[in-house]
Order: sequence, then C-alpha cells, then structure tokens
Amino acid sequence: MTRPLDVRTEAERATRVAEVPSDVLHYVDGRFVPSADGATFETIDPSTNTALATVAAGQAADIAAAVAAARRIFEDGRWPGLTGRERARVLNRVADAIEARDERIAKLESLDAGLPITQAMGQAARAAENFRFFADVIVTLGEDAFRVGDQQLNYVVRRPVGVAGLITPWNTPFMLETWKLAPCLASGCPSVLKPAEWSPLTANLLPEILEEAGVPAGVVNVVHGIGEEAGAALVEHPDVPLISFTGETVTGQTIMRAAAASLKALSMELGGKSPVVVFADCDVDRALDASVFGVFSLNGERCTAGSRILVERPIYDDFVAAFAARAAAIQIGPPGDPTTELGPLIHREHWDRVLSYVELGVDEGARLVAGGSRPDHLAEGNFVAATAFADVSSSMRIFQEEIFGPVACLTPFEDEADAIRLANDVKYGLAAYIWTNELRRAHRVAQAIEAGMVWINSQNVRDLRTPFGGVKASGLGREGGRDSLDFYCEPQIVHVATAELPVPRLGAAGPP
Ligand code: NAD
Repeated sequence: MTRPLDVRTEAERATRVAEVPSDVLHYVDGRFVPSADGATFETIDPSTNTALATVAAGQAADIAAAVAAARRIFEDGRWPGLTGRERARVLNRVADAIEARDERIAKLESLDAGLPITQAMGQAARAAENFRFFADVIVTLGEDAFRVGDQQLNYVVRRPVGVAGLITPWNTPFMLETWKLAPCLASGCPSVLKPAEWSPLTANLLPEILEEAGVPAGVVNVVHGIGEEAGAALVEHPDVPLISFTGETVTGQTIMRAAAASLKALSMELGGKSPVVVFADCDVDRALDASVFGVFSLNGERCTAGSRILVERPIYDDFVAAFAARAAAIQIGPPGDPTTELGPLIHREHWDRVLSYVELGVDEGARLVAGGSRPDHLAEGNFVAATAFADVSSSMRIFQEEIFGPVACLTPFEDEADAIRLANDVKYGLAAYIWTNELRRAHRVAQAIEAGMVWINSQNVRDLRTPFGGVKASGLGREGGRDSLDFYCEPQIVHVATAELPVPRLGAAGPP
C-alpha cells in the first residue's frame, strides 16, 4: 500500500507531479517520438488548472507514420497470423502488467482527469479485466459452417479487417482505451490510438505494459493530438478501414461524414441523457442510492449517467427531499483523497459549460434543490458541487441536452404511460434504469423505452459479454463480447462443392 494522495499540501503535490513525465511523446513502431513538426500542447491539472506536462501534438505526418507501421505488421502477418490461443496468452500478460501497476495508473488518471482515486482504482481493475475477457472470447469463439446436404459445405472465416483507428474521450481514458484495444488485439488488428487531448497521460503507460507483455512493435501505436488535427487525419487516412469512436454525438457526426470518403466501417459510442424511472412500489432506499451514484459517480462525466430521474407522483416530494439531502452531503474535494466522492471537472472550459447549464436551469424555471456552484472550501480548480434540479419539465434544455457533469434533473410522472413518454422524449437512447417491484411492468417498460441498454432494479453493472451501445443519437453499432470481434473482423464465406454440382453448360450445344 502506498499512502493516499492529497493535493492539499505542497509536498504531496510535488510527489504527484513527480510521477508525471515532463514530455509526453507519441509511440510509433515501438519507439517514443516527438511530432514531425515539433508541435506540442499542454495537459492541465484540473484541481489547479496549472500545466502538468507537455504533450506532442500529432498532425497528418505523425498519423501517416503510425498507420504505415501498423500496416507493415498487418501485412507481414506477425500479429494477425498468430493463433487465437497465442494472442490470448499475450492479452492475459497485458492484464497482468496492468494489475501490477494499477495504483500508478489510477493515480495518474486521477491527477490528469480529476477522477476520485477510489473510482480510478476501479477503472484500472476494469482495464485489466477488458484484456482477460477478450483473451477468453478469442479462444472460445468458433466460426460457422453451413452444409447443403452432401452437395456443399460453406464455411465462414473471421478475418481481421486491417489497421483500426481508435479515438477515445477523456472521461475514463485508460479504461476506454483498453475497451477498444483488447478486442482489436484479440481480433488480430493492429491499431493507431488517438487519446483525448484533455487526458493524455495514462495512454503513455501503455507502451511499457504492452512491451512487458510481448506485443510486437507496431501492433499498437499511440498518436496524441487535437481531435480536429490528429483525429481527423486518422479518420481521413485511406489505409485505415475502420474507426472505433467514443465521444460526443456531434463529433461522431463529423467523423461519419469524413469517413464516407473512404467507406470506413464505424462503431460509434456517443452521448446520452439516460432516464431513471422510479415507480412508487419500488425499494425506494435502493433506488435513491443507485440514482445518486448513477449521476454523481465519475464526476457525472459518464455516458450512461442516469441524469434524468423520473419519479412517480406519490413519492416525488419525499424522493426529491431525500435526493437533495444526499447530494448536499457528497464529499467533494481533491481527487487523490480517498474520501473524495466527487472531484474536479476535466477542464476549465467544461466547468464553464456545466455551470452555464446550471444558470440555464434556473432561468428555465427549474427548482434548484442542491449545489449549483463551486463549493466555498475549494477556491481553485474545476469543482462543481453535486447539483440537483426538481420540477424539470421535458421542454427545458437541461432535460434535453447532455450536460456531462454532476447535475441531476428530477421530474414527476403520473402513470406508466407518462413515464415512458418522458423517458423517450429526448434525442438520445443510450441507457435506462427502471425501479419497480412489479415484474410485468418492469419488462413492459424496459421494452417500451428507446435505449440500447436497460437495467431493472440496479445501477449500471456491466456484463462484458453483452452488447454495449445506444440507439437514436447515442450511437451506431455495439461493442462487447462477440459484437466487438464482429466489428474488428470481416466474415469471409468460402463455398466448397462436396459433390458434382450441376454446372449450366452455356455454348456446349455448338454454333447455331
Ligand atoms: P469529444 O467528441 O469531444 O472527443 C472524443 C475524441 O474525439 C477525442 O479524442 C477528440 O480529440 C476526438 N475528436 C474531436 N474532434 C474530432 C474530429 N473532427 N475527428 C476525429 N476525432 C475528433 O468527446 P469528449 O468530450 O472527449 O467526451 C465526452 C463525450 O463522450 C460525451 O458526449 C459522452 O457521452 C461520450 N461518451 C460516450 C460513451 C459511450 O460509450 N457511449 C462513453 C464515454 C463517453
């Protein structure tokens, strides 16, 4: 055990900063390299808004070098040519290497992204699990055969598509990078990863992890940079046939337009404004715990956050009062402090955006029942107290738009039909959470809600075998289990005649 981190003293702050490399470079073909043109940007400590490190700012030339390295190894077959078992062994060693440095990963993530350290530890554990899980999937997954009597045996092989472009957001950076890298590696595809520019640090632990595990140089390449520069260059590169993207819906739309030119396969995990539907008959204490956790964990910067809490009228007033009291009691503070439940938001710009939504909610006439501003004891950094609005109507922008911060909207509903109408009355459809002890209603409502994923009487607990993804503006495609491998692999059908199939004999009758 190392001692818990806390930014409140200068000495501890120095320790934290000492763990950060001063220069964060790209990782191309097994080597750390600066940008071809020397460009850099700074990553900021969200607790203080001071610079943490200088990061290489990739441009088209850096992306081109990384894609070329990945393509070389794809063509020479050194990674795609391994058996599933051989790749699985490497993936399990990657998981071991992550577990061996989980505290280091969590501390760096907590420092760079502002995640509470206890939650960052959970994300590091999940990152290791991503690799173990896809190691299991690749060795257990078969391929299909179709027999047509004794005439034909048609079989399908799963072939890795090629160099994958992986573009990730800043909210749980390391976990989401591994959520893409693990199935990509399991499938046999080399990749170029473009981490989010607001949280680039943990991606630079990947090289030592991958090298320790025996992943050959060139299989995973990391190019840092601004989305509109490095990210756009990756999307436009003709030798990248597929892009797995997680981020905002508007960015996803831009990427889809750009990807059309070279007809890329796309997996789009986008934004959300997920409902929590609380019926009066449920276990209200558990629903309260789960809805507080669902919107305030990971600083509220969570794609599946239950940010619209719809509560049946008879319990509405009591639920709002209890929710507001719990929100007000949430421990907000330095992310390195193990007692912290809510840390600083990722960036000053995002902090401004979240607070502008709080202002908007007040202007729109919603009732602010908790939080709404910077806590008095945290004079610097991007802190916003856990915030709750009651009496939010579906026409308000705070109900409709993704805030991606610690802001909950509570809305009463009259009956089941009203709950379903409200749940579906937004453009997003990522997750939904339903609280009721009435069995038939639970399933009925689950199927009536437009969401890719529904939890009944539970917070978000993932089963990695199941398809993860959204409907409507929340995304296209699914990741998880076999769905991930379907994305990184192309099925090829081979038809084999196992008997003398009749062949039409055009021209066999001779000249007319
Ligand atoms: P973002 O869209 O701003 O950025 C995501 C990534 O895309 C970053 O690496 C960025 O550099 C890159 N990018 C930006 N513009 C680009 C362009 N023109 N071409 C190529 N790449 C570009 O998202 P964010 O602010 O980092 O993350 C927050 C968003 O992510 C929220 O909307 C959240 O709901 C969503 N999210 C979704 C899921 C999911 O699984 N559905 C998970 C986590 C986060």
